[in-house]
Amino acid sequence: MRNLLKVLTAFMTLATVLLAQDKMAQNNASQNQPDAAKQAPDVRFSVDQLDKSVDPCNDFYAYACSKWMAQNPIPSDRSFWGRFNELAQRGEYVVRDILEKASVDRPGRSANEQKVGDYYASCMDEGAIEKAGTKPLERDFQNIAAIKSKGELPQEVVRLHREGTGVLFGFDSDSDFKNASQMIAEVDQGGLGLPDRDYYFKDDEKSVELRKKYVAHVAKMFTLLGDDESKAAAESKVVMEIETGLAKGALDQTSRRDPQKVYHKLTNQELAALSPGFNWNIYFEGVGAPRFDALNVVEPEFIKNMQGVIGAHSLEDWKTYLRWHTVHGNVQVLPAAFVNENFDFYNQTLQGTKELRPRWKRCVGYTNNDLGDVVGQVYVQQTFGAEGKERTLTMVGALEKALGADIKNLPWMGEDTKAQALVKLQAITNRIGYTDKWRDYSTLQIVRGDAFGNSQRANQNDLQRRLNKIGQPLDKREWPYPPMTVNATYNPLQNNITFPAGILQPPFYDNQADDAMNFGGIGAVIGHELTHGFDDQGSQFDADGNLRDWWTASDKKQFEERTGCVRDEYANFVAVDDLKLNGKLTLGENTADNGGLRIAYMALLNTFAGKEPAPIDGLSAEQRFFLGFANVWCQNRTDAVARMLVTIDPHSPGKNRVNGTVSNMPEFREAYHCPATAPMVSQNACRVW
Ligand SMILES: [Zn+2]
Repeated sequence: MRNLLKVLTAFMTLATVLLAQDKMAQNNASQNQPDAAKQAPDVRFSVDQLDKSVDPCNDFYAYACSKWMAQNPIPSDRSFWGRFNELAQRGEYVVRDILEKASVDRPGRSANEQKVGDYYASCMDEGAIEKAGTKPLERDFQNIAAIKSKGELPQEVVRLHREGTGVLFGFDSDSDFKNASQMIAEVDQGGLGLPDRDYYFKDDEKSVELRKKYVAHVAKMFTLLGDDESKAAAESKVVMEIETGLAKGALDQTSRRDPQKVYHKLTNQELAALSPGFNWNIYFEGVGAPRFDALNVVEPEFIKNMQGVIGAHSLEDWKTYLRWHTVHGNVQVLPAAFVNENFDFYNQTLQGTKELRPRWKRCVGYTNNDLGDVVGQVYVQQTFGAEGKERTLTMVGALEKALGADIKNLPWMGEDTKAQALVKLQAITNRIGYTDKWRDYSTLQIVRGDAFGNSQRANQNDLQRRLNKIGQPLDKREWPYPPMTVNATYNPLQNNITFPAGILQPPFYDNQADDAMNFGGIGAVIGHELTHGFDDQGSQFDADGNLRDWWTASDKKQFEERTGCVRDEYANFVAVDDLKLNGKLTLGENTADNGGLRIAYMALLNTFAGKEPAPIDGLSAEQRFFLGFANVWCQNRTDAVARMLVTIDPHSPGKNRVNGTVSNMPEFREAYHCPATAPMVSQNACRVW
């Protein structure tokens, strides 16, 4: 089970896709309408989508999106529905087709076909999963029951981590922030069942209520395991106490965006001194890490605090905590009663989702998660040609040129810092479409009919793959996700951008659309990712991906004044009810949106070469550019998920991404002839890049 939010680099995405929550939910399939009816709506932009009853100068998002929003309500099995999801859904049908073909047990299947085919078939085999019941958990439960002292906790944490169950803390490999070409070990905070540490402490009415429901959920899971109600109630309280204790030492999401706060390179001895009661040597050896002498301890306070929490609870309490996470972490491959209970809390209560996704969609998701590069190889053969790669690279080139011109002309930055910024820009490398180095699953055993074992072995295999990197040079050919992903990333530690095949399609990129629409769509996305290299976080890393200050003090001050403007502007936007956005948490993404749209606009003007294109459907190229941008952010979300995302998501809601950005651009005002006092004309327009 992977965390939704990993350290630092996972933050620099285009959008948060709620996959981790999807993985938390599973069920016997409810009967859905025929799939073909739900398949692939036309995602191309059309002028008919515009809501002519709205003045674009009053609310550009409503002008561009309100019709789409009315026509595309949130499906009952989702908490969030946007253009990204439409596109991802089309990909699901492609992948299902691939998996169904591979799942036919016939002679001559390749090793990879056997793996994905049997993995998917096992996941779909609800009968076998029901029949197995909780038996697959018994080995773990026996191991937990057999622990004789807290001194044996490291061995048990090893077993659970290798199976993919997240207890106590996280352990992984990562680039060394100050020597980014080298991979090192990393210990991170972890071990919580709620989405974020803040959930344990907020004292507003809704948060208090949510905690009660969480405790009730944990109790229900224990009763499903066979414990009587009073025992389960007591156990759930223990879980809550331990997790609250762990959460006390954890950093909040805003702090986790600050590289200075999540990089603490310690020797193994220094780590041991933080928590002398936990034998790290036993853990590191057991979990399968190569030997090392120093590592990044993301938050030393978390480890120190963890030691206290271990001491404060009895061994029996710890066994209860481990048992809870074992059932929680494996819920997707357990019988329907568990899956339904899990759905009730994590999807319905936490996110406002009404019903479970059909089983095949969940199984497609799990297969993508566990064997993504096998699926991906076939996916790109079917959907992505060399032409798509060429065209995208051409656009990236145009955007990089525009960003270079933008940096050279910045009124607030001195020449020395400009020279450094240009060195960094020139060093950015582009990864388009799919990886040059597919993951090797040859050591992973997939057994038809054993969904539980397949899931655990896949987790174990993947953890070993990641841990094997410790002490090795960074391999930039490896991608963090498979090519059907609808997203894009900038990685500050590698100084590169990644555009998977999944996003290089309408409405982001349409080879039948004019330049204006494409520069507003995928162009602004490319600009967004490039700008991440220069946002409040990315700007702290240099051309080689090292955490190193390349700014003059006075330019840094100017930069902070300008990012402060963006922070304060977005902190005034309301997400839901009276809940406002966290301006600091969303600062990097908002900076990237603003910078990205600006340089995409500059790049579009460059393509005109002095000759304005003729209007299409009565819309000028400039007007269409902004529509191409707004169009990709049309989305609906439940109030519950809007509330959740304010706490954990560094991205602003679609409405603010659109209106916040265009209102900062005089070019928008000009394109739509807005009066100076219009709501879409910011009186205090912020500009960083
Ligand atoms: Zn981003």
